[in-house]
Amino acid sequence: MVSRVVYGAGSFDQLGEILQPLRAPGKDTVIFLMDDVFEDGRLHGRVPALQEDLLILISAREEPKTQQVDALVAQIQAKGESTPVAIVGIGGGTLLDLAKAVAIMITNKGSAADFQGWDLVRQKAIYHIGVPTLSGTGAEVSRTTVLLGPERKLGINSDHTPFDQVVLDPDLAIGVPKDQWFYTGMDCYIHCVESLTGGYINAFSRSYGEMALALCKEVFLEDLDPAAAREKLMMASWHGGMSIAYSQVGIAHALSYGLSYVMGTPHGLGNCLVFTHLKQFYPEGVRVFEQMRKKQGIALPQNVTRSCSDSDFETMTAVAYSMEPLWENALGEDWKSKISREQIREIFTKI
Ligand code: NAD
Ligand code: ZN
Repeated sequence: MVSRVVYGAGSFDQLGEILQPLRAPGKDTVIFLMDDVFEDGRLHGRVPALQEDLLILISAREEPKTQQVDALVAQIQAKGESTPVAIVGIGGGTLLDLAKAVAIMITNKGSAADFQGWDLVRQKAIYHIGVPTLSGTGAEVSRTTVLLGPERKLGINSDHTPFDQVVLDPDLAIGVPKDQWFYTGMDCYIHCVESLTGGYINAFSRSYGEMALALCKEVFLEDLDPAAAREKLMMASWHGGMSIAYSQVGIAHALSYGLSYVMGTPHGLGNCLVFTHLKQFYPEGVRVFEQMRKKQGIALPQNVTRSCSDSDFETMTAVAYSMEPLWENALGEDWKSKISREQIREIFTKI
């Protein structure tokens, strides 16, 4: 679990104080990885970077890759002989995952691709701090960092992955474009549906999932004022992340991974694109999803896979089909008798 949390509108301004005790004379470099959307000056003067620190602006247009993590580690190591005292990730799931992965790879030799999987990390990561600016993924609380590697899209799942500190400031999400807000918010909603309806569910996970689901319904079906909506979605994301950390996601995520592997579709959008075709598996979940989509006036892109070749569909299907725990969570141990590769492929052709 995340060891330390501060919460509240404006709490971003405590970041300097949080970093202070970590700094020591001669060993005080902090690395900031920040979404380049903040180049617009919104955080001007508020990032507590000192002279020796390194502030790296990163585009979230493409989701994190193992090679990108390796390159960032090399860039940081080239800067100085001493190990940085902390790394701070500021942004949505992309920047949070990058910060977690870089923190791990600074102390573990090799390529990030060597650590994709479960419990492969041996050395403790450097102190890492997550500052979410977009709510929904649960990356701020999870024990994984999802990376696109040379062979697959898979997380570094380990006890060293979760942040040591998270700063939850709902005001940082001011200015998120509406479509993006909805897609990433639906990532959280879909986490809840998949976790709560899955066979891996347990009372611990359910308590978080139910809380997150109720918050999502308030945010996307009621008319809240924007500040309340930001606060509630930030807490929904946290609880949804906690819920799947102790259970598992399901069919939408399996399909969305396949889609994104071939098409590069961003995670939140990919989930929405597939989820709307999963009525058969999540009847109530899809009904409420459609209600939320209409209430928020979001039109999903159409004909996304129109130009896909036969081999593209094959790859998507293979990637989705290979996510065994997700299928097992959704459909049970005999999941292979309940869904075929042809059915999966058929869903991809509808998107
Ligand atoms: P993102 O981080 O990719 O950002 C999406 C867009 O929103 C980007 O253009 C970004 O610049 C913009 N943005 C972010 N904050 C903003 C702000 N305050 N104002 C304006 N624009 C802003 O989106 P995401 O959906 O949060 O993250 C997706 C990533 O999260 C994927 O890589 C996915 O694999 C990962 N993920 C990780 C976990 C986990 O547990 N580690 C779980 C789910 C998803
Ligand atoms: Zn997700």
